[in-house]
Amino acid sequence: PRAAAAVVESVPARAAESQYPGNLFVVAAPSGAGKSSLVKALLELDTRVFPTVSHTTRAPRGQEKHGREYFFVSQAEFDAMIQGNAFIEWARVHGNCYGTSKKAVEDRIQQGSDVVLEIDFQGAMQIRKVFANAVLIFILPPSLEELRARLERRGEDDPEVIELRMRNASVEMAQAANFDYVIINELFERALFDLKSVVHAQRLRFSAQRRARTETFAALGIAD
Ligand code: 5GP
Repeated sequence: PRAAAAVVESVPARAAESQYPGNLFVVAAPSGAGKSSLVKALLELDTRVFPTVSHTTRAPRGQEKHGREYFFVSQAEFDAMIQGNAFIEWARVHGNCYGTSKKAVEDRIQQGSDVVLEIDFQGAMQIRKVFANAVLIFILPPSLEELRARLERRGEDDPEVIELRMRNASVEMAQAANFDYVIINELFERALFDLKSVVHAQRLRFSAQRRARTETFAALGIAD
């Protein structure tokens, strides 16, 4: 009867969003905040979440391998990929170009896997425009002193590069307000627990459950 249906009809529509079954997590942080270690630990613990390998014009550092940490390409190759519309987002970070392959992300989330992107804040903002329901997570260091100490301990960068990263960090951290979640990486285990909690909570959201469990929802008669 129409009277009963009217109650349901008054529920506001949800914003348009991607219908892909997988979730997209985007993790950004100033370098030295511990983003890579946290994401690496998440990937080891959670077999439903996958990384994608970005392309970059910077040179490999230390033990980095082509196709593992990054696809290391020339500026000309990178420019050709921009022209060919191969990136969902790309940005210039610390003087080098970095980009995320559109196909790598879409293939995964279409299959129902979750994807985690470890990218800079400019890239995160671009992702949100393409995937409205991407979950943006910002990792902060507990202090500027600790950030500098971590960059120095890492021993990967020359002093002038460390100065550049410190100058960029303040600009980057001012962007934290545009993210959905903030994790302060003071104690690694605590920050990892926080990251796992965000991933888990996202999987329980109505929209994510509906995308991942379409048949269950249909069988239970739950409409959009
Ligand atoms: P690094 O040179 O230290 O590996 O990375 C420098 C910065 O570039 C980090 O903040 C890293 O997350 C970011 N980055 C890595 N891959 C991408 C990407 O595909 N797109 C964007 N926008 N940033 C990226």
